[in-house]
Amino acid sequence: MKVVRSIEKLKNARSKMEGSLGFVPTMGALHEGHKVLIEEAAKKNDNVAVSIFVNPAQFGPGEDFKTYPRDEDADLAFCEKAGVDLVFLPSEKQLYVEPRRVFIKVGRLADCLCGESREGHFNGVVEVLVRLFNLVSPDSAFFGEKDYQQLLIVKSMVEDFHYFLDIIAVPTVREKNGLAMSSRNRKLSFEERNAAASLYHEFKMVREKAETARFDRRALPVEFIEKEVAEKLNSKHPEIKIDYIEIRNEDTLEKNRFIVNNSRIFGAIYISGTRLIDNLHIGN
Ligand code: AMP
Repeated sequence: MKVVRSIEKLKNARSKMEGSLGFVPTMGALHEGHKVLIEEAAKKNDNVAVSIFVNPAQFGPGEDFKTYPRDEDADLAFCEKAGVDLVFLPSEKQLYVEPRRVFIKVGRLADCLCGESREGHFNGVVEVLVRLFNLVSPDSAFFGEKDYQQLLIVKSMVEDFHYFLDIIAVPTVREKNGLAMSSRNRKLSFEERNAAASLYHEFKMVREKAETARFDRRALPVEFIEKEVAEKLNSKHPEIKIDYIEIRNEDTLEKNRFIVNNSRIFGAIYISGTRLIDNLHIGN
């Protein structure tokens, strides 16, 4: 496995590579979710590259950029074991040439959910991906459905900017208790992880409800279900602070009045200051 920290070394390693390249961009503190992305990349490509970079541009003021979990040694051992060919560990200075002169703004897909709570977050995500895609020059890149809004925005970015690049979506990998795996889970105690898992359990109940309603040909009003989920979470786990619980169209992120075939439920919560997100397809 080659580990490169400079753009020059990356270019050199990339030019020597033979065959196709699958790319997994990450912010490190790697876990089983990342591993599945790496495995998928390996299945579909001759080579796999992983980038590890905690991207300051996607953190807002007062967010956890400074305390985001970082463990380079463990991450490199993880990549080696997972059979990664190339790891890119860029520095902020190299990626973001100062002074910054050109900026990217994500359109309507960033107006809701995490884009609304974290102003500028998705602009920062696209800013780093433009740089990474141009530098790594992969044939395909792998993204988790855990960050579903991000996945939609990355797909749009690749289409709008005419990248010759396939974006492959990978289903959310979960802990045994149902909690979506996340680097931020490291900050939680055992009890907090179990409490956080209730978000997914409530989502699954909504999915069941939607199935029954479909069978009975009943329309389920979105607003009512969103409120019900929030109330249940609040009463079961007062330690959880809800940012949003919303049901939206999973292709456009627009809101429907009733649950429809392509509905998806999205949630963001804080537990002891740590922000976690999850989502689940609840349509047909
Ligand atoms: P991150 O390091 O959190 O920026 O994530 C890097 C990539 O891994 C993103 O495409 C995430 O969506 C994906 N990812 C993170 N957690 C999971 C998970 N539990 N299941 C599937 N993909 C994930």
